[in-house]
Amino acid sequence: MTMSRRGLIGASAVGAGLLASAARAGEGATTLSKPCVISTWDFGIAANQAAWAVLSKGGRALDAVEAGARIPEQDLKNHSVGRAGYPDRDGHVSLDACIMDEQGNCGSVAALEHIAHPISVARRVMEKTPHVMLVGAGALQFALEQGFPREELLTDESRAAWEAWKKDAKYAPRANSENLDYRQTSGQLGTPGGAGNHDTIGMLALDAAGNISGACTTSGMAWKLRGRVGDSPIIGAGLYVDNEVGGATSTGVGEEVIRNVGSFLVVELMRQGRSPEEACKEAVARILKKKPAARDFQVGFLAINKRGEVGAWAIQKGFSYALCDAGKQDALLPGASFY
Ligand code: ASP
Repeated sequence: MTMSRRGLIGASAVGAGLLASAARAGEGATTLSKPCVISTWDFGIAANQAAWAVLSKGGRALDAVEAGARIPEQDLKNHSVGRAGYPDRDGHVSLDACIMDEQGNCGSVAALEHIAHPISVARRVMEKTPHVMLVGAGALQFALEQGFPREELLTDESRAAWEAWKKDAKYAPRANSENLDYRQTSGQLGTPGGAGNHDTIGMLALDAAGNISGACTTSGMAWKLRGRVGDSPIIGAGLYVDNEVGGATSTGVGEEVIRNVGSFLVVELMRQGRSPEEACKEAVARILKKKPAARDFQVGFLAINKRGEVGAWAIQKGFSYALCDAGKQDALLPGASFY
């Protein structure tokens, strides 16, 4: 892992467990050696290590990101990705995921229920069908046809959190309820899209052959309306890869990312010559320019280019991303932010 001077300050601080002081690494370039993998949030560290098991043996970036994304999907302590994800308003665990390879092939599932590994279903959509995206009941039907087991995903812990939320929720359905306040989504979990209610894993890998692939998987915002789909399974919003340029992924309030086609924007800005960090910063700035009130939310972008340069930017402090290459497999850096 080679880094600029600022990046080195950040890396050694992280090594010493001083994440906060690494925040100043915002303007530095972090360059990873090939092969490498990066992903959003601290749970990205374990995910990266699973991806690394593929990459370090000369494996394909696509296989690496699928293997990596499955780690938080199966983690029963992770309430924002996969089987233990918090449910929607009505108690359904409904999952979104997408995957994209170096040839521009992509697959996606949205509002998928009862299947613990949506990232693998998304890959099957990509490889076995002429389509890009399947949703809801159709996505479930396809997954079952493909042999994925149907499971009850709502864990006791997630159910308890949902029951607690419902007590005061302003838009939980009740008999004869009127004037439901649909603006209140994840209330007591803290900043929408932020650390208390995080989050999606977005993962990008550059393999030994120099090819980039990406994966993104989430249970979306806790207590969302049934059928709500965020940015994560939307190619161009939650994830985008262009093997000539690089890849980008996002986390946070998906509605803001969709409005700005965020990950596609980041990749296009890199194509025009911006560094990954500059591109992520500009994409976040675009969100805030269009909607200044978004400063109360969290959105973070993470990007890598073909040279292995990595960058990130978020609306608020608190975003972090995990990095892994031959030099270090468990690095975690804070995303630079405007606020
Ligand atoms: N981006 C995800 C969504 O909007 C959630 C998150 O990353 O917090 O569904």
